[in-house]
Amino acid sequence: NANNNGIKKKLQPTKPPESQKAATSESKYIVPENIYDRRSGETYKKLRYLGEGGFAICYEVENSRQQRYALKVVSKTTLREPKIKTKFLAEINIHRSLKHPGIVRFYSCFEDTHNAYLVLEVCENHTLARMLKQRQRLSEPETRYYLIQLLDICRFMHDNKVIHRDIKANNILLDYKMDAKLVDFGLAALLVSAEERKRTICGTPNYMAPEILYGRNGHNQQVDIWSLGILCYTMLVGTPPFHESSHDAIYQKIRNNQIMQAYTFPDNIKLSDNAKDVITSLLVNDPEKRPTIKQLLEFPFFRQDFLPAAIPVCALQRAPTEL
Ligand code: ADP
Repeated sequence: NANNNGIKKKLQPTKPPESQKAATSESKYIVPENIYDRRSGETYKKLRYLGEGGFAICYEVENSRQQRYALKVVSKTTLREPKIKTKFLAEINIHRSLKHPGIVRFYSCFEDTHNAYLVLEVCENHTLARMLKQRQRLSEPETRYYLIQLLDICRFMHDNKVIHRDIKANNILLDYKMDAKLVDFGLAALLVSAEERKRTICGTPNYMAPEILYGRNGHNQQVDIWSLGILCYTMLVGTPPFHESSHDAIYQKIRNNQIMQAYTFPDNIKLSDNAKDVITSLLVNDPEKRPTIKQLLEFPFFRQDFLPAAIPVCALQRAPTEL
């Protein structure tokens, strides 16, 4: 496919523009007000719309004991496509096996005539992407706070031989305490051994690691470390480092980064040398030359600089004065 440079993207129908979302969702999904899980006998009452991705629509729901969850709804029409169905089942298997405070908890799944449903822990404060949109960029202490959480999440996943492969601001949810929770294991892969390498080309263009794009030797957990570099830059600067108008131009820039640094730090944004050090050491094209999670945590950015005890909810709207 000439348009996307032969890259097999996440299997997904195109997303509707923001303005058409409500109308499209209404017609694309049939979701009753009370959703009944036949096997457990539980009924979930729909409370509010939370968000929508290419595959699924999400609602906050409440069960008969007033416990609240996020219900991810995938239409059975979508699941008729065998590749999508296989991916969806893989997502369920990987996600349900991962129990960590930084990973949205998977409780159960069920189906009715129209849809398949995932019952997940609800994150009240939406996505990090939405916070970034509102704020433009985050402060260094806030970025440090979230990166430390994400490094711990990656350590846990990688110890369990899982690569997420789609770490990005849109897939990081914020719970009621404003802590990060990773979601969407639709592209995740399970490695059978520590040495195994994956060959599927997938991801989100801006966050795609060079070895996924150009590597002849497959890829491993280091792709998640690369996307943390992209995320770190994006949180501090407000735009991704390889920011171009077309996918091909993005991929070219990532390729050029092999020879010399193909992104710049904008002059009008004050960044500490410690922050720049983290970014430049993560965005190294050779995956073997990227630091390990353990090495990263030894960087002055993480060890020496101020780490907030928590992020206040008001940080969704504006930079807290103390941070
Ligand atoms: P897709 O597989 O289609 O990409 P996602 O899993 O990304 O779907 O979910 C779509 C949107 O629903 C997310 O971007 C987010 O806004 C919202 N969402 C998903 N899971 C939760 C959750 N556990 N709590 C709150 N909102 C959620």
